[in-house]
Amino acid sequence: MTDLPKVNNNYLIDFLVKLLNIPSPTGFAEPAIDFVEKELSQFKQLELSRTRKGALVAKWKVESDDAPVALTAHVDTLGAVVKEIKKNGRLKLSKIGGVQWPTVETEGVWIFTSHGEKIRGSVLIDTASGHIYSAAGSETLRSDDHMEIRLDARTTSKQETQALGINIGDCVAFDPRVEVTNGFIRSRFLDDKACVANIVAAIKALADAGLPPTRSVYFLVSNYEEVGHGASAGIPSDVAELLTVDMAVVGAGQESDEFNATLCIKDSGGVYHEGLNKKLRTLAEKHNIPYKTDVYPFYGSDGEAFWRAGGDVALALIGPGIDASHNYERAHMDGLLATTNWIMAYLLD
Ligand SMILES: [Zn+2]
Repeated sequence: MTDLPKVNNNYLIDFLVKLLNIPSPTGFAEPAIDFVEKELSQFKQLELSRTRKGALVAKWKVESDDAPVALTAHVDTLGAVVKEIKKNGRLKLSKIGGVQWPTVETEGVWIFTSHGEKIRGSVLIDTASGHIYSAAGSETLRSDDHMEIRLDARTTSKQETQALGINIGDCVAFDPRVEVTNGFIRSRFLDDKACVANIVAAIKALADAGLPPTRSVYFLVSNYEEVGHGASAGIPSDVAELLTVDMAVVGAGQESDEFNATLCIKDSGGVYHEGLNKKLRTLAEKHNIPYKTDVYPFYGSDGEAFWRAGGDVALALIGPGIDASHNYERAHMDGLLATTNWIMAYLLD
């Protein structure tokens, strides 16, 4: 079908599932950065470093080191921190990123204490018992005030919860609930771990085939995207083009689907770079990569964060279609493969 090096599907899925299972809400994403760094360290072609902000940078340097390019994707996810310990020992939360409460109601969580311990619990509405509240429970507003964490530990008071080692500001990570069936990957936080997996799988396919990129390339794995400023720092100033790899929006009114990669022309942050878009379309057509073009309604990207911070690059955004984003998401292997192939086509061009 395509003339590009063969992607190892099992490797891609295996890496993705492992990454999805590492809790990494924005601000607490270091374990995921560590994991990606360890994986990339097997490719001796890459020089690895970290920014002061904690993002991972991998440089694949080749002979022609003029006008290098960069790719970016993020490992941080939605999540929460402990906002308040209630009188009954349960926790109120403050959201990290665009969490919508109904999407995590009854989900399992880990609370990571500042002393390095983790405590299990789940998210409930404060009118959860059907035998007490009956229909009134469905009418309770799913808001910061009504959602709480019930800890799987013996506590009925603020003091007992504090004695468990829990403090205000502790990280709360929602379970991803990863499942792979029939080519579909169902999980929270495929945004944007799917795209990190696409980049890593592309690097592996090129390395295994002994094919270096045409120009030197920086891979920036960012760690603050879900709060808006991830890749605003960390892209070297000599980079000429930045390809952001992030999920495509699937749902009513959207052109994107789970079986294609998408080139995003416009999102909430405005329009991407026409010249680089044109290049990407040409590459997709040349290599038989199934793709769509689309416009995303409520969406900003790490590439735009870099533009806003003053980055002078041509900028584009591609990624696999993710159904029900920022909810219980789903991707398909075909969309992941299309994106991985597109990344390789770009790097070899
Ligand atoms: Zn994203």
